Parts: sequence; structure tokens; C-alpha cells
Amino acid sequence: MTIYSHSRISAFEQCPLKFKFRYIDKLTPEIECTIEAYLGEKVHETLEWLYLKILEKRNLQLEDAIEYYAKSWKRDFKEEIKIVNTNLTFEYYFDKGIKFLIDYFIKNYPFLDNTIAIEHQVTIDLNNDGKYMLQGYIDRLVHNNESNIFEIHDYKTGSIKTQEELNKDRQLALYSIGIRKEFNASDVHLIWHFLDFNQKMISKRTEEQLESLKQDIINLINKIESTTIYPASPSPLCKWCEFGKYCEQTKAFTN
Ligand code: SF4
Repeated sequence: MTIYSHSRISAFEQCPLKFKFRYIDKLTPEIECTIEAYLGEKVHETLEWLYLKILEKRNLQLEDAIEYYAKSWKRDFKEEIKIVNTNLTFEYYFDKGIKFLIDYFIKNYPFLDNTIAIEHQVTIDLNNDGKYMLQGYIDRLVHNNESNIFEIHDYKTGSIKTQEELNKDRQLALYSIGIRKEFNASDVHLIWHFLDFNQKMISKRTEEQLESLKQDIINLINKIESTTIYPASPSPLCKWCEFGKYCEQTKAFTN
């Protein structure tokens, strides 16, 4: 039985051929990592480290977080990391990460929102019969002791979304199903930190909306599992496709 992730389902929706290359043929990606992905990874890693220290009751300063980020960036950096927008440099992205951390630190210090878990694994049994399983990781989980509200926090290093888009976003809504069950929680807030815009945005879901979402995802999984033909679905996202060299369609969007 396949345990699905939100990214696996999204890959199928975005481009069935890419889904096939990645999950069925298991081809080796041409691009190991884009600079956007590397920046996202290093900022996430630094915030994870920061909150782990806070859970250990360590009193950290902004300089500690910047130092951790810079060391980690340097340690794992490879020249093969791809810059899609060739007008920009590695230094530009490195500096962007510093700015994200400075803004986040100033906005959230002294981090007293009662974080209870970092990179929390959540498993969702969509039909309560073990047939449709989904798994994911929550960047940070908070429990407000006074209001008894759980908060799922997600860091975004890319573009911002509208409130309307967030109200329809599936990923954190799916994770909230797992958190409701795991903690017997009745109120779960979905919270995004759009780091490039220094903006925090919140959305909520009703039980009816979550039931409907579960059914949508079950239908999608059924569709994925009954698919035998995987057409290419070219779009501007082809520029970032790590399987471009295997795909004829990529040329239309990469010149
Ligand atoms: S290059 Fe575009 S069309 Fe081809 S597999 Fe990747 S996303 Fe799909």
C-alpha cells in the first residue's frame, strides 16, 4: 500500500508525466537542487534549530541564528545548485535568507507562543480503514494553553498567497485532520509565515469542510491508482522541472 504525501498528489495534478518520472520510473533527477529549494531548506533548518534551542530553554540572540544559517549554507553548498533566474547570484539568495531570519526574529522574539513540536510527523487515515493513508511533516506545532487552540505553522520562502487561496489550501488542512485526531482537538488554526513579505496569515476549517476535503483526496488517490497513461502537462513550471532532460515538452518553456 502506498502512503501518500501532499507533494505526491500535487505532482500528479501538476503534470502526470513528471509524476511518472519521479514516482513510477524513479528516474534520477537532472537538477539535484534549485537555489530556491536550497534557500528554503536552509531557512527551515535554521528555524528548526532555533526552536529546538528554545524548547531547551536556551536564550538565543539573532546573531546565533544568523551564524547557524551561514555555517550551514557554507557547509552544504554545491556549485551544481541551479539558478533558474540567471540575472541573480548565489549571494543574492544567501542575503535573502539573512533578511528572512532578521525579520522573523524581530517579529516573533521572545518566541513565547508555546511550541510543542518541531517537524512533527502527522499521519492521516482518510477513510478510517487504512486504505487511504497520507503522511506529512508540520514545520512547527503550537498549543495555546489558555484557548486550547492548536496551531499548525508553516514557513514559506516563495511568493505570497491571497486569503482566498489559503482558505482553499489543502496541505495544512489535511494535517489538521491528523492533529484533531492525535490531540482530540476541536480547534486547529492553520498559520503561514510568508518570510519574503514578513507576513503571517491564518485560516480555519470547519468539520464539514474537512470531511469534503477527505473525500476529494480519496477521489484523487483513486484516480492516480487507476491511471495508466501519463500525459505531459507543460507550463511555466517546466523551468524548475528536475526531469526536463527526459521530456520533450520542456523546451517550450526553458528558452
Ligand atoms: S518538463 Fe514540464 S511537461 Fe515535462 S515532465 Fe516536467 S513538468 Fe511535465
